[in-house]
Amino acid sequence: MSMFSISLKELWAMTHPATYLENFYAKASSDKPTFVLSFDIDLVRDIKNIKNLSNELRKRELKACFAVIGKYVEQYPEEHKVLIDDGHEIINHTWSHPNSIELSPNKYFDRMTQDEKKDEILKAHDVISTKLNYEPKGFRVPHFGNLFTDAIYPILKDLNYQYSSSTLSTNTTSYGQPYLAEMGILEFPVATCPKHPFSSFDSWHSLKRPPAFPKPGALHKKNGEFRTLFQLLSKWILKYNIYMSLYFDPADFTPENDTYQILDDICELKDQINYCTYSELLKSYLPIKATHE
Ligand SMILES: [Zn+2]
Ligand SMILES: [Zn+2]
Repeated sequence: MSMFSISLKELWAMTHPATYLENFYAKASSDKPTFVLSFDIDLVRDIKNIKNLSNELRKRELKACFAVIGKYVEQYPEEHKVLIDDGHEIINHTWSHPNSIELSPNKYFDRMTQDEKKDEILKAHDVISTKLNYEPKGFRVPHFGNLFTDAIYPILKDLNYQYSSSTLSTNTTSYGQPYLAEMGILEFPVATCPKHPFSSFDSWHSLKRPPAFPKPGALHKKNGEFRTLFQLLSKWILKYNIYMSLYFDPADFTPENDTYQILDDICELKDQINYCTYSELLKSYLPIKATHE
């Protein structure tokens, strides 16, 4: 019976994705429209575009959060330093990004032991702190969504981390809003696609994904659809006074697609809402943490 109702819910979400998501966000108890912009530097092509992207962000006075990989910080410290110089926030994204096509294609974060996971995070922390002179407070699970489990929280607590941004909005019972997870760690969910409510609305999904049967390729590349969908999400932030966060790949931010215009849209949105980084947002949640200790 419950399986039947789940499939009905999924069927409804698939056939009426925007309505499904609007109903979802309408239930969120939030009174402050908030947006956090984040990027995952997963591949060498992302590293090569850090400088361009950071310039575009600086022009628009936008600070963002960047999830970085330890091994690449060690290999390309100067490229990553640009982010520190421009005042962006750094998120620990493991040492080797298990399951990365470039670094560790045969490893899966969710199949590692707790000790191996801790080692991945600690090793990345050390190199970020020595090479970039920066102490991250937040962590993002590689390929979050599928590979994310609650098992990460005790490790983060152990390492004195304060937040995680590792799950999709539609996976939460907080209707996509930040919530206090286990061990006093705050979880900042990432929003999903208005047309695919159970997939992250990232630039890979929208612009890059190569076709691989039975999955189609990039889903929102045509006719500026990526930007139109982004604008729909911003409308919901204002309409329902909710928090939303997105993550993109730096390599996709070039003048050849509509990504620079999306940065313009974010710039416009910034003046109407609480635009901030995860750490800044953390401050407004700290009193919640204190009551639990
Ligand atoms: Zn990643
Ligand atoms: Zn989509």
